Amino acid sequence: MTVTVNFAGQQLPAIGQGTWRMGDGHYTAEQEVDGLRRGLDLGLTLIDSAEMYGHGRSESIVGRAVKGRRDDAFIVSKALPSNATKKGLKEACERSLSYLGIDCLDLYLLHWPGSTPLSETLEGFEQLIDAGKIKRWGVSNFDTSATNALARTSGSSDCTTNQVLYNLGSRGIEFDLRPRLRELEIPLMAYCPVAQGGSASRHLVNHPIVQEIAAQHNASPTQLLLAWAIRPFNGERDLIAIPKAVTPAHIEENAKALEITLSAEQLAKLDEAFPPPAGPEPLDIV
Ligand code: NDP
Repeated sequence: MTVTVNFAGQQLPAIGQGTWRMGDGHYTAEQEVDGLRRGLDLGLTLIDSAEMYGHGRSESIVGRAVKGRRDDAFIVSKALPSNATKKGLKEACERSLSYLGIDCLDLYLLHWPGSTPLSETLEGFEQLIDAGKIKRWGVSNFDTSATNALARTSGSSDCTTNQVLYNLGSRGIEFDLRPRLRELEIPLMAYCPVAQGGSASRHLVNHPIVQEIAAQHNASPTQLLLAWAIRPFNGERDLIAIPKAVTPAHIEENAKALEITLSAEQLAKLDEAFPPPAGPEPLDIV
C-alpha cells in the first residue's frame, strides 16, 4: 500500500522528487528528463525545483519532463529571498513558469528567510494566486523563530509547507519545529532525506542497525531512510520527502519505499542508534 499524505487539501504520495543539480552536467539532460518521467510513472508525483538550481536549468529539465503530462505532476519551485518583494516575486515567478513551460505552479516557496518584510512577500504570493500564476505558497528553511514570526504575519494561515533538511542523522526539528508546525497545521517537506547519498550518507547506510532493519524488509538502507522519514510522527503523517535521483535503480527503489511500514520495535531501535533531540538545536541547512 502506497503511503500518502494530506498535503494542500489533496492526498499526495509521501515521496516526491528533488531536482537540485539537474542540468549541471552530472548526467545528460535526457537521463534527467527520463528519470523524472519514470518517477512520475511510479507515483512520485511532487517535483521540487527552484530558480536557484542552475539558474533555470533544473526548471527547464522539469518542464521537459512534464510536457504533455502536466496533470500528472505537482510542481513546486522557489524564489530567492533577493526576489521576495512584490515586484521581484512576480518577475521571478514569470521566469520560472517560462523555464518550466507551464502556466501555473502548484506551489511556490520562499527559499529561505531574507530581509524583505514577510508581510510584503505574503502579499506578493497572494497577488500571484489572484493572477492564476501559482495555486499556493509556502516557505523553506524557516526555523522555529522564523516560523513564529511567520505565524504572527497576517495571511500566514494560508502557508502550505515549510521545506527543511531532515533525515535520520539530522533530527533537530523534532524538538520544537515539528511540533510547532503541527500546531499550525503546516505539513513538512523533507529535503536531503537520504543525506545526499553516496559518501555523504555513509554514516547512515553503513550503520549495522539501519542495515539490519533494511534487510528485514528486503530493502536497501537508503529505502529504509526514506521509510523512516515518512513514518507517522506523534501518530500522524504530515511529511513529504523529496529525494533527488537520476539513476534508474535509485528511482525504482525510492518509489518502492512508499510501501514500507516500520514497526514500533524497529523505530525504537533506530531511536536508540540515532536518538531524537534532547533540546533545541539550530536548523540544519546545506
Ligand atoms: P538527497 O538526500 O535527495 O540525495 C541525492 C543523492 O542521493 C543523489 O546523488 C542520488 O543519486 C542519491 N540517491 C537517491 N536515491 C538513492 C537510492 N535509492 N540509493 C542510493 N542513492 C540514492 O539530497 P538533495 O540535496 O538532492 O536533496 C533532495 C532535494 O531537496 C533536492 O534535489 C532539492 O530539490 C531539495 N533541496 C532543497 C533545499 C532547500 O534549501 N530548500 C536544499 C537542498 C535540497 P543519483 O542522482 O545519482 O541517482
